Amino acid sequence: MGMIPVSRIHGALEKYKKGDIKIATVCSHSALQIFAGAHDEGFKTVGICARDRVDTYKAFGYAQPSEFVVVDSIKDILKPSMQDELVSKNVILVPHGSFVEYLGAKNIEDKLYVPMIGNRAVLDWESDRKKEREWLSEKSKVSMPRVFSSPDDIDCLCIVKFDGAKGGSGYFKVASPKEYYDEVKKRGITDGNTTIQEYLVGVRYYMHYFYSPFSDKGYPCKRGSLELTGIDRRDESNIDELHRLGMSGAEMAKAGVDASYTVTGNTGCVLRESLLPEVFEIGKRVVDASCDLFSPGMIGPFCLETVVTPELEIKVFEASARIVAGTNIYADGSPYSYLSYGKPVSCGRRIALEVKDAVAKGRLCDIVG
Ligand code: ATP
Repeated sequence: MGMIPVSRIHGALEKYKKGDIKIATVCSHSALQIFAGAHDEGFKTVGICARDRVDTYKAFGYAQPSEFVVVDSIKDILKPSMQDELVSKNVILVPHGSFVEYLGAKNIEDKLYVPMIGNRAVLDWESDRKKEREWLSEKSKVSMPRVFSSPDDIDCLCIVKFDGAKGGSGYFKVASPKEYYDEVKKRGITDGNTTIQEYLVGVRYYMHYFYSPFSDKGYPCKRGSLELTGIDRRDESNIDELHRLGMSGAEMAKAGVDASYTVTGNTGCVLRESLLPEVFEIGKRVVDASCDLFSPGMIGPFCLETVVTPELEIKVFEASARIVAGTNIYADGSPYSYLSYGKPVSCGRRIALEVKDAVAKGRLCDIVG
């Protein structure tokens, strides 16, 4: 089965009653913020919700979706009967990390014909580490950690990642080929599907951007403009608290304590203002390259996961081409979005503003695919 043609999705969109567009997403990840932001802009919302989560999503008065579509399994969205129901409600879907996780990138590309914010082609470019690198490093000229195609070449501290590992679980550090082979053996890893990446030493910052193909209010891109909507840092358990044990690596190994990078929460932060030109420039290059590689490019919210080194160089180790959970800190706006709008604008609200603007300009097809 091939990719759903964009013309089919745009065909459905053209039949939508423009005054009755609803914003919908799966009740998980950043859904509350997406619903609240849509309500701020006067949209009705639809929450696609697993039966056992309805009470949770009803527990937030303002963010509670205007309407629930209750499902036994989130994958039920892919059923044509369910998709037709969503289309008949004039729904525009907002994808988030769990949405992609539940449905699967391939299913979204090949089976989902409900209009969705953003460009589905990006899924291919971010889910394949080699393609992601071609986009970010070669085409965008963004500084990234070195990658070792063979463990025998390891000559610095490295982080070893697995394909499909979610939220960094099970990643480990090694500093030599021998350490790599020892760890792989100890952990019983047999499939060899690992990525060996230079371990970046510095401070992690997760930059939240929003790219609009037709706004001219942000930082200028080749086409449209880019806004910085916020920055977060992730709490990763247990790596972020290991120092509290006051133990050396050897003592931790003896006590059976293994570092893990599983995300448990997020905290807000701002950067030294002098880093902002570089933050925008990196974001712009990634957007411009996306427009060249998979037109119309990476529409809407995205995040660059970075490490800022002591030399103040910003290195990018990962991109997420949609709203990220770190934006939830800013449900009532971030310092940066306040500076752009003079009022609280969350990432969810920014998405709703874009839909509103696109409807007014008759350009919904430019931001929905
Ligand atoms: P997600 O999809 O949630 O972003 P993931 O499975 O793609 O997770 P990464 O984001 O690549 O995993 O990495 C998880 C964590 O591991 C990062 O948040 C960071 O703390 C650490 N990490 C990843 N790459 C590096 C690196 N090159 N140097 C130092 N730390 C890193």
